[in-house]
Amino acid sequence: MIIDSHTHTFPASMAPQVIANLQQKASSVAYTEGTDAALRQSMRVSGIDCSILLPVMTHPKQVTKLNDIAIQKNEAFSDTGLFSLGGMHPDFEDYGKELERIARHGITGIKLHPAYQGTDLDDVRFLRIIEKAAQCHLAIVVHAGWDIGIMHRNFACVAHIQTVLKEISPPKLVLAHMGGWKDWDTVEKELCGENVYFDTSFSLGAYEPPKGVSVPPAQRRMLGKEQFCRIVGKHGFEKILFGSDSPWSDQANSIAQIKACGFGENANESIFHKNAQNVFHINK
Ligand SMILES: [Zn+2]
Repeated sequence: MIIDSHTHTFPASMAPQVIANLQQKASSVAYTEGTDAALRQSMRVSGIDCSILLPVMTHPKQVTKLNDIAIQKNEAFSDTGLFSLGGMHPDFEDYGKELERIARHGITGIKLHPAYQGTDLDDVRFLRIIEKAAQCHLAIVVHAGWDIGIMHRNFACVAHIQTVLKEISPPKLVLAHMGGWKDWDTVEKELCGENVYFDTSFSLGAYEPPKGVSVPPAQRRMLGKEQFCRIVGKHGFEKILFGSDSPWSDQANSIAQIKACGFGENANESIFHKNAQNVFHINK
């Protein structure tokens, strides 16, 4: 069984525009059309049983609507294999009630994106959301480290994460992109062994820019295999979740990259599904 803990889709009517915008902004390339149908097709090809959808809410007005869509999608989970988390925006006023509501409706986690939400992770608005989410037994998935499209400021750096751990210590904090995108030396030094999960999405290897876009090799380079394996070893495979960041990476290729690390059957079972089942309460 394979669970992809980090995927994104967009409504079919908006997907072409959203994908085009994000490709432009991030000098990145989409591997699917970015719809639920395209993700399900990719899952069939890659042998993935379940994909966790992470909605990113860039405006407080989107929160209720996108959480409603998440709740609705999860009703069809046993057919689709798509399980959506909810989300929250730092400026959403009634965050406490909304988090209680989504938890009641079977949502098991939320996604926070400090860079796209223009707010540092250690801002009091995020801290109170994280505290309340933990009280509601929700996992908290954070875009950690730099964002490929917003390189002027690191909104979720290791120091911010340490503040969250010191002040709240939520039991299920998932740091996307191996603890902090392009911040891996500090992650290796400061976060390995802490009570946090890392997801593997968009971290190992190099990314290819779209045709006609030139991106310097240094910018394309991500986490090398040696350091990736070292971080997994130091942190412990029981706290690593497989994720692809589809559509921004190819799911089958992401699986192959992790398998090529040779962690062994026991570790792979944890990384590819057991840990995600525990964190997000997935029973499939
Ligand atoms: Zn992502």
